[in-house]
Amino acid sequence: MAEKITMSAAGVLNVPDNPIIPFIEGDGIGVDIWPAAKLVLDAAAKKHGKNIEWKEVLAGQKAFDETGDWLPDQTITDFREYLIGIKGPLTTPIGGGFRSLNVALRQILDLYVCLRPVRWFQGVPSPVKHPELVDMVIFRENTEDVYSGMEVEAGTPEAEKLRTYLMENFGWEIRPMSGIGIKPISKEGSERLIRASIKYALDHHRESVTIVHKGNIMKFTEGAFMKYGYQLVKDEFADVAVGWDDCGGKPEGKLLVKDAIADITLQQVLTRPSEFSVIATMNLNGDYLSDALAAQVGGIGIAPGANINYVTGHGIFEATHGTAPKYAGQDKVNPGSVLLSGVLMFEHLGWTDAANDIVRALEATIADKVVTYDFARQMQGATEVKCSEFAAAIVDHL
Ligand code: NAD
Repeated sequence: MAEKITMSAAGVLNVPDNPIIPFIEGDGIGVDIWPAAKLVLDAAAKKHGKNIEWKEVLAGQKAFDETGDWLPDQTITDFREYLIGIKGPLTTPIGGGFRSLNVALRQILDLYVCLRPVRWFQGVPSPVKHPELVDMVIFRENTEDVYSGMEVEAGTPEAEKLRTYLMENFGWEIRPMSGIGIKPISKEGSERLIRASIKYALDHHRESVTIVHKGNIMKFTEGAFMKYGYQLVKDEFADVAVGWDDCGGKPEGKLLVKDAIADITLQQVLTRPSEFSVIATMNLNGDYLSDALAAQVGGIGIAPGANINYVTGHGIFEATHGTAPKYAGQDKVNPGSVLLSGVLMFEHLGWTDAANDIVRALEATIADKVVTYDFARQMQGATEVKCSEFAAAIVDHL
């Protein structure tokens, strides 16, 4: 009998061998990539004595067509109840009352970490000379920053009211006809994100955490984020981690916590990738950085992601690309992103052997040059296969 994943009072996930895991197939190419990924995930799980009972939950276009609701309450209830889920890409409803379904899910479940590991897989075409040096894990804050949706449109009464208030109370002069956005960065929000990144780095034997910020300009938001991070190291991790200034960059066996300005980081992840391991940053920086890094190792077709609340235990693992409508239903695109999100989910569940097997089988398939169109067009002598055939080839290598 399939069972639920639960969270212990000590904050540890209890994962049965036969868990119930909700999934959202996803719109557009979801119909292609989800079945392909599922085939591989199920085969790898089975090899290690596990069996997932997948429970379909609805969101996006498919939900709207079947229920008239873009994000049915039942979906939220199921994610709450079963803790861990996985999803394909979702169409963003235009005028459906949502900014984005993904953002809605993150906010409702308070999934404050956007986890984006970026590493190169042997054989994947890359635009850089040494993609093998890229092995970074980005912790992007998911609930604050200029993404919190507090914006007023230029010329509206709200914008004028805010502008006048700021002028009268702060002496801040903002030009008429300005849109205004608010950038909240809280101590609590910063600390929980940075705490998660440090714990991850310690658990995964990583050598450093780099706090990426633009604190030289935005002192009380991005600068504060950095300060909270260094203080957290002293308050909670002094025995196992140390800030750069407290050790002159020589951590002597401890985890090194350092910081870097966001613009320089975007250069250095290209020129000196081996100096970055775990990265902790705010919402907007994290968004830019994760896509820029994904490009270095083969693009969005294979970039996995997850949204996690480490305190409640909730996590939704997801393909990071969109619905690519022009390819939908053609059994053509790369299922790598949602598959590797499943791998990330397996790692999160402690199913490391099954996760490693999938990575090994994926690399073996790419080494055979059996790939989907996106890789085939960049590789010499490749055999282009369909999405489902690519998945079947990976299963053969398991
Ligand atoms: P997209 O990611 O859907 O597609 C852009 C291009 O990337 C595609 O045309 C294709 O060339 C390539 N691509 C994407 N996925 C691929 C894969 N698996 N294999 C190979 N190539 C792939 O971005 P878009 O066209 O800007 O957005 C389309 C829709 O998706 C919009 O409704 C958007 O709101 C939504 N979207 C959803 C998510 C999400 O659910 N996480 C993320 C981004 C966009």
